Amino acid sequence: MTTAAPRRTTTASELWTNWLPAVERLVPVPVEYRVATLAHQEAARELAIDEAVLENLVGAGFPAEDTPDGLRYDYHDVMNLGLQSGLGRSLAELGERQCMRLAAGQPEAWTTERVTRLRLTATCDAAGCTSCVTIPVPAEPAPKLYEGRLTEWAREETGSMVATVTTRGHRDAPRTDTVRRIHDDLLDRLVSGEYQYGWVPEGLRSRPAAAIEHRTVDCIVAAWQMQQWAEEAGVRARTRRGFLLGLIGVEHAWTEVFEEGRWLLLDPVLAYLGSRHRATHPEFADFTRGSVHNRLLAWDRSVDESLADHDCVAGGHVRVDCRQIPVPRTPA
Ligand SMILES: [Zn+2]
Repeated sequence: MTTAAPRRTTTASELWTNWLPAVERLVPVPVEYRVATLAHQEAARELAIDEAVLENLVGAGFPAEDTPDGLRYDYHDVMNLGLQSGLGRSLAELGERQCMRLAAGQPEAWTTERVTRLRLTATCDAAGCTSCVTIPVPAEPAPKLYEGRLTEWAREETGSMVATVTTRGHRDAPRTDTVRRIHDDLLDRLVSGEYQYGWVPEGLRSRPAAAIEHRTVDCIVAAWQMQQWAEEAGVRARTRRGFLLGLIGVEHAWTEVFEEGRWLLLDPVLAYLGSRHRATHPEFADFTRGSVHNRLLAWDRSVDESLADHDCVAGGHVRVDCRQIPVPRTPA
């Protein structure tokens, strides 16, 4: 008998060495933010494990809700368990590996000029949003913040926006211990597990102080925390939102601090993610302490602002999708 796709069977050793410790380490989504909508079969698929193995993990304490339709999970818990497994097969890990290819290769390639054409689509998650008067519109990116350019910004019939951006990186580094420490303290806490990096539900990431209290940190929460530390140390700081460019762009956030007459970018979350992948160049962690990567596309918005404009009557949250599209050979 042949099957279309190879069946992933979890070995006993993987169960004991990877999955059960992952359940133990996992900082679950706090109950008040948990939305258990992901079906058992779907969760097993995202983790790349058998359904029976997932039942075992529930027995070991992985949060699940028993519903008339079977076990249901919070999406963030499932993604975060995948990240904790360290096997590299879960959907969350595959996405991270894809994204972190930007940390591979030679450092010179991180700062050269790149031209990228993108389609940006904003969608609102509110069920009642179809009655909204204003459909969500992606906000204009601001590559000029880092010496780049926006050379096309056009609306499609669907409401999506097409952008052509030129991005370029540049090298810089902190000159003071205070600023260096802001980056490295955050990185140390991620590496030690004091802060658990992962997917944070929208309701929690919009209250970063509560997220820190629960030890769950994503790029938004990290950017906010660094701004607090900087301001406590008397350093001007602001947060910034944008995308890491790739075939499918990944939403990202980071911090800028003002030091000796210029703004400096701090992005220890990228250093941490890079440290989890073998292909990462050894200089990458240094690079995230002050430099700008050419795959970073900035918006002139902070972590408490959205990347889309939308007055939602249904109180929805807007998500922006960013996909690379081919650059036409001849200008239109
Ligand atoms: Zn809406």
